[in-house]
Amino acid sequence: MASNCPHCKDRSLNHSRIEADLPALSCDGCGGSLLSLLAYRHWRESQPAQVHTDADAADAPLTEVKDTSIALCCPKCQHFMTKFRVSADARNQIDLCVHCDEAWLDRGEWQLLDRLALAGKLTQVFTQPWQNRVRSTEAERRAEQRWSERLGEHYERALQTREWLRDNPDAREILAYVNQVRDDIPL
Ligand SMILES: [Zn+2]
Ligand SMILES: [Zn+2]
Repeated sequence: MASNCPHCKDRSLNHSRIEADLPALSCDGCGGSLLSLLAYRHWRESQPAQVHTDADAADAPLTEVKDTSIALCCPKCQHFMTKFRVSADARNQIDLCVHCDEAWLDRGEWQLLDRLALAGKLTQVFTQPWQNRVRSTEAERRAEQRWSERLGEHYERALQTREWLRDNPDAREILAYVNQVRDDIPL
């Protein structure tokens, strides 16, 4: 039975390949692909240990990436798919049907994974530790952004000083010394 595109709904999915030896079902309308994690794991195991180096990834051309923000229904079982953030560096979310183990990649999302050197780690993206890490990285960045706004022109220097102290075995002594200035600062 032909499955329809979860995005376009009235278009059927056709057999395609997102890599030479990685089959998927794709939609000619929106360019999205339904990827079976079973097929993905099979493909992953046939790849060398490192699919791409980070350097390769940075050079890869970035095609236009679409991202579906609305909830999608799995083309196979019609259950709602679950959205997973890929990385703190990309707003994109990949939809996964947890019943069928089928992932929906919007147009360009496979290339995006490739570019972020995550093409070999797709199944890790769907784990709680991965999702927690994306969230904590984002929280750290927001906190850093607030500090940057508070400190303004002093931020760069404060950041450098903090990083210098972070790995400094004498950091406590240095801070004790620097802290003396507190008594001289008017409230
Ligand atoms: Zn479509
Ligand atoms: Zn399903």
